[in-house]
Amino acid sequence: MSPPRVGVLALQGDTREHLAALREAGADPIPVRRRSELDAVDGLVIPGGESTTMSHLLRDLDLLQPLRARLAGGLPAYGACAGMILLATEILDAGANGREAVPLRAIDMTVRRNAFGRQVDSFEGDLEFAGLHGAVHAVFIRAPWVERVGADVQVLARAAGHIVAVRQGPMLATAFHPEMTGDRRIHRMFVDIVNGRS
Ligand code: GLN
Repeated sequence: MSPPRVGVLALQGDTREHLAALREAGADPIPVRRRSELDAVDGLVIPGGESTTMSHLLRDLDLLQPLRARLAGGLPAYGACAGMILLATEILDAGANGREAVPLRAIDMTVRRNAFGRQVDSFEGDLEFAGLHGAVHAVFIRAPWVERVGADVQVLARAAGHIVAVRQGPMLATAFHPEMTGDRRIHRMFVDIVNGRS
């Protein structure tokens, strides 16, 4: 089987690390900045960064509606941190003054932006992660947490009692940044989803 073409939304944020992680996980990764690139991918990673800025760039580049349409059509997506925020149906503390993060509504969940950030800006810890053997070392940077999930959403991990990783069908999201560690298990999990093997 040829490797699946997995895009990384490359508007802002740590795109390069995700491209490298996806390659190591067996995908053929490409940066996505325009409609034609979005149309060409079998799966999409939405990286960490700033969800408000990414929302504005999505609008400015006329990618918001095409992306929503592809997600609604079942395009597998993995969102990390800001990407998790964007995949939600509802965002709390989304920002103000016309610079709010906009929900792509791909995962039936309510996320609170910068939720951990109000307590401590960034931290690391070892988590149990459903479906993976052995702890995952998780790096959180001004991270969100999930306050509500719908009945079809599977909770994969928690930190300090809060939901920090979820899956709904072909959609995966983590509040932390696996691309910043050498552990490729979460990217591999996503590549397996894209390949229809998981
Ligand atoms: N706080 C950022 C946001 O609201 C997310 C931080 C991150 O992606 N590391 O989008």
